[in-house]
Amino acid sequence: MGVEHGPVTADAARAVENAHAWFEANSGWAPPDPDELLEWLGDGVCRCPDDCLVEPHSWCTHGLASWYLILRSLDG
Ligand SMILES: [Zn+2]
Repeated sequence: MGVEHGPVTADAARAVENAHAWFEANSGWAPPDPDELLEWLGDGVCRCPDDCLVEPHSWCTHGLASWYLILRSLDG
């Protein structure tokens, strides 16, 4: 799967899948500290794995889910 540009992601589940694919390609599994995540959420924002700033329940224009969505999906 190639990297696509623009808001091509359909939903949060797909964005989380995209993020995991991104980790495999970038060896980028570096989740934020819980304190850092809480600080972002307190500001009404969240970072994505590629450092884009988005709303907590959203994903960036590269289709990567926010850390909030990724970590929540791991909690099951
Ligand atoms: Zn991005």
